[in-house]
This record gives sequence, C-alpha cells and structure tokens, in this order.
Amino acid sequence: MAAKHFYQVLGVTEGATPDEIKKAYRKLAKQHHPDANPGNPKASDQFKQIAEAHGVLSDPEKRKKYDQMRRLGGFDRGARGPGRSGGASRPGGGGPTETFDFGDFGSMGLGDIFSSIFGKGGKKEPQPQADPLEVALEIPFRTAVLGGKIPVTLAMNGSCPACAGFGAAPGATVSQCPECTGRGTISFGQGGFAVNRPCPQCRGQGRIPSEKCGICLGGGEVRSEKTVTIAVPSGIDSGTKIRVKGQGEAAGTGQAGDLVVTFDVQPDRFFTRSGLDLECEVPVNLAQAVLGTKIKVRTVDGKKVVLTSPPGTPAGKKFRIKGMGVVKGDRKGDQLVEIAVTMPEQLTPEQQEIFKQFADQAGLAY
Ligand SMILES: [Zn+2]
Ligand SMILES: [Zn+2]
Repeated sequence: MAAKHFYQVLGVTEGATPDEIKKAYRKLAKQHHPDANPGNPKASDQFKQIAEAHGVLSDPEKRKKYDQMRRLGGFDRGARGPGRSGGASRPGGGGPTETFDFGDFGSMGLGDIFSSIFGKGGKKEPQPQADPLEVALEIPFRTAVLGGKIPVTLAMNGSCPACAGFGAAPGATVSQCPECTGRGTISFGQGGFAVNRPCPQCRGQGRIPSEKCGICLGGGEVRSEKTVTIAVPSGIDSGTKIRVKGQGEAAGTGQAGDLVVTFDVQPDRFFTRSGLDLECEVPVNLAQAVLGTKIKVRTVDGKKVVLTSPPGTPAGKKFRIKGMGVVKGDRKGDQLVEIAVTMPEQLTPEQQEIFKQFADQAGLAY
C-alpha cells in the first residue's frame, strides 16, 4: 500500500474547508463502506484509511498538528502511511523492516508520534497502548431516537495470540535491545530540536528475541475480525461520537486502545427530526377534512395513537402528541402530526353537479 497523505486519501486540497472535508468524507465513506463492498477485503482497509484521515482533518487541533508535522517533513520518510493501516499488519511476510521509517511506527499510531514530538502528555516511556480506532457507523433512524445495541464487526489489529504480543518465537531467549540499550526510545534531532521516539528495532519494548514469532513475524500483532456491540445512547444525531473503552486495536503487548464511533443517522420515510420533536405528515381525504375523522398515527416506538381531527380541519394543521419525540437525558420532545388533505383528482359529471350544488348553497364562488 503506497503512502498517502490524509489530504490525498480524502481527495481534497490542503486548503480545504471543514465543509469540503466533511463532504468528501461522506461521499467516500459511503462508497467504501465494508457493508457496501461485501467480499472485497480491501474495502475495510480503505474505509479505515478514510475514517482515519477524516478523524485528523476534521479536528482543527489535530489538523494543525498534522500540518506542522508535514512541514517538518515527518511523513515524507516512510514507505508506508503514518497511520495504523499502513504498517501494523505487515501482510505477506518479508519480515519487519530494519530501516528506520515511519511505517515502523504503524502500531504506535499518529497520536504517539505527535506526543513524542510535541511532548503532549509528557510521557517518557513509550506507551504501548494503541491509538483509538475511529469508525463511522450508519444507524437506523429509530435506533438513533430510542437508543439500542448494534453489533459491528471490525477488522482490526490485535495482540498476536502465538506470542502474546511479545514477538518472540516459542523458546526464544530475550535480550536487551542494542539499538536503544533497553530504554525503548531513541532520540535524534529534527527541525532544530531533539525528539524521543519509540525504538524501531524493538518497537519500544527495550528487548529483542533471539528468534521472531513465526505468526506475526515479530511484530506482535495480527489482523483479525472482532465483533463489538455498540450501545447507542438515545437521542443522538449524525456526527455524534462515542468512545468505547478498550475495544479498539491492541498494539503488541500493550493494552487495547479505545474505539471511537461516529454515528451517521439514516433518514426515515415517515419521520423527520426537528430538535427533540419528531415531525410526520398524515393524509386525510376531502370528506374527512370537511366532516372530521379519527386518524391512527404511528409513533416512533411502534405504537398507534388515535387523533380526533375535528370537522373543517385545514391542510397543514398540526397536532401534537406529547412526549412521543426524542428522549435525550431528562428532556423529551413531542410528535407533531401535520394534516395533508388529498383532493379527488377527477370528478364524474354527477359529482361535479353535486359539488356545484354544495357551493351554491354555501355561497362559495367558483
Ligand atoms: Zn507473534
Ligand atoms: Zn530498542
């Protein structure tokens, strides 16, 4: 996989506005969503790259740092991308790279590169906890309103079961890493200041095995599918993010990172949302509008409510069903039912005659 900058991944210019980034992301995420590409194993990788690029570029703070990093030349060295999707899985053998490149930090993730360069968090030891894994999740309208649980199967990097993430073959002896003399970090100058980075030789562990694990080729990680059940809170909107602790990717012997889910709410055919209120439209015929009627209306939780529409109810009249809207915390919206009056398209000559009689009697000009 060729290295691509986040801007390239989303197909936007470096001066792109947040809106342009959002639009590009939406379009690509739909196109490459694994659900839309069954049987295409590349789709989930592409989808992840897109989500990762969006995760950084849509956050003004992260984007600023990313741009700074790029100006420092940090991302031009690697043969693979800076993100997890590039280096961590090490597909197809070939062994881990010995040369120093950003791909070696695949499993450490962008956040760690940032923190080691900018000193954010002030960590001395390289923390093996993986970066949060960001995914976009499309959810049905009803689930967004009412909340619920949704199982999601994600392709992610996990700790290698054969070596428990240590990267050592069975029976291998483990000795101090000569590159970093066991510290797990190396420091070197770049852009006029010295920075500490996780040691690429031992992947920040400070030790190296005499023989590498044959399953993960020493990387300590394997790629696998994992099903995570996402608890969707009630009353969420498109763009709402939740963080699921410890359900993201694992980096070597480190703890699994978090999973960050961004929801995309599918539109509903009957309901539209307006703040906490749910709006819907119910058709009645001319006779019902004129003479009055009872109408059965579906609520979002699947119940039926009977409304009495009095004689002479005009089109556009709105009825309010209290408490049947979106529930968010201790606030509750209503359901607003708008009356649409359907007109008879064609009248027979007899019907026309009767209608004219009615109009004459009611004093209606026509
Ligand atoms: Zn292994
Ligand atoms: Zn080392």
